[in-house]
Amino acid sequence: MALTDIDLVNLNTKPFFTTQVNHLIQILYSVYPDIEVYFFVHENSETFILQDLPTNKDHVFDSIPAEVPALMECQAQNEFSSTLILNQKNAAIFSRDPSDLSDYSIISPIGRPGEFAGFLLTVLPAGFDVKGLNLKVFNNVSASVGANSVTSNMLEKYKGRSDHLSVMLEVNTHLNVAATKTDFLFEITRFGKYFLQFDRAVLVLHPEDTPEYFMIDSIEGPETGLQQGMSYPVFNSLVSRAIITGQYFIYKQSQKTIPEGIYRNGDHGDYPFKQVIGFPLAKIKNGPGVLVLEAKVESPVKQSEIGIFEMISQSLGAALTRFSLYERLNNYATIDSLTHLYNLRALKQRFEEELARAARYQNSLVVLFLDLDKFKLVNDTYGHLMGDFVLREVSQIIRDTVRTSDIPGRYGGEEFVIIMVNADAQACMASAQRICSAVRDHHYEMNDTSIDNKVSIGLSEFPRDGETMQDLIQSADAAMYTAKRRGGDQVVKYEKGMVPKSNA
Ligand code: GH3
Ligand code: MG
Ligand code: MG
Repeated sequence: MALTDIDLVNLNTKPFFTTQVNHLIQILYSVYPDIEVYFFVHENSETFILQDLPTNKDHVFDSIPAEVPALMECQAQNEFSSTLILNQKNAAIFSRDPSDLSDYSIISPIGRPGEFAGFLLTVLPAGFDVKGLNLKVFNNVSASVGANSVTSNMLEKYKGRSDHLSVMLEVNTHLNVAATKTDFLFEITRFGKYFLQFDRAVLVLHPEDTPEYFMIDSIEGPETGLQQGMSYPVFNSLVSRAIITGQYFIYKQSQKTIPEGIYRNGDHGDYPFKQVIGFPLAKIKNGPGVLVLEAKVESPVKQSEIGIFEMISQSLGAALTRFSLYERLNNYATIDSLTHLYNLRALKQRFEEELARAARYQNSLVVLFLDLDKFKLVNDTYGHLMGDFVLREVSQIIRDTVRTSDIPGRYGGEEFVIIMVNADAQACMASAQRICSAVRDHHYEMNDTSIDNKVSIGLSEFPRDGETMQDLIQSADAAMYTAKRRGGDQVVKYEKGMVPKSNA
């Protein structure tokens, strides 16, 4: 279908928006698999209407009256953030039959304070432990849904503009499926050339954690005078100004109206481009970055083209936010924050995958179970901070010792499990011995206090010592406990008859 075949007048942008929202909600599901998320939009002053999403599970509500106490409470809050609510108190919202209610729900507002445009309703499963809940995750997702709805509204506004809209929609659809930042930029450049003449597109990012610098993230076109990955100070250049103000800029060499350089102060000299336009990725001060389009020749630029490109850039911004959000959430869901090793959930998932592979291809698989010796004493004598420090040091030793194909994770407090694939038990035994000595020989020194630390390690082997994850861990645990009984600071291979501590 050619772009011109699209019936612009009757085109509905909602499906595109819905895909994006759905994508975001999938992120929540990947972190909390048992929840149910619903998306409501403010229809009129009396009601919020449930939006039809492919992920919606069975439900008995299609709309929610605006004057339900929980919603009013949420709107009245000073802070525009997610609120945990007890369902019993708000039975009317969710169900006609309060007896089948789960205990808690979360309302995550979308919009701005005073402009309650809608909300995500997350129903938590019965028995969900709300103590460990991170409401920030929900805030992030609802904020991102909000950012996407801005794009959607802008799209509606541009509906009347012949071909532009269809191109925009195509860009947006591609942004949804494009997986990496480079893909995003590539799509943007491909479609961008439809409107504006340019020879190079540069994606400049402005990281939140180092706001005094911006970074050249990617370059589509010749690299002349620029280097990917370089950082420049946010100071006295056109790009810096766009970051600081959130406003686009146009530079034409013939007009020479602007004294600063493009990226750095005074970089006009060997700069090969004659016309440069910079579009912020969000219309806010100190925003996330700028899309810079550079051309070797000057050409007239229409105001409508600027408007469209501002929109494309903001779409890119929203997509990037989603991308980094996804990365962060994915880390949050798989990496232990203290040790930066796999957490229990991710460890178990990797374990099952490797076990299936080992069974299918008859590969070897060895499990190490590590437990630090007399670790309670470290905490009791030197405090928890010292304990945490030792845990981090040990994790680093583990990372430095194992092969890249090995999978180390934090099993519990001061217990680690390492899965070793495709190596015979003897080689794994040698690895385990190296970890044991390295833990013993390392200097654990914090604030002028130096302490000793030792570890006991048990080893089990698939399929000899167990065919399931549970059996293999239990065997390795039993071997570890035998190492403890023999005085600790050693590696023991599982033998029949050894029992874990809980059965001893
Ligand atoms: P054993 O040689 O028998 O293993 O003696 P132990 O003292 O190490 O005994 P156990 O393994 O039962 O003790 C675990 C201790 O680890 C309890 C707790 O004080 C400490 N611990 C668990 N998780 C953490 C943590 O995240 N940080 C700190 N600092 N300490 C932890
Ligand atoms: Mg322990
Ligand atoms: Mg211990």
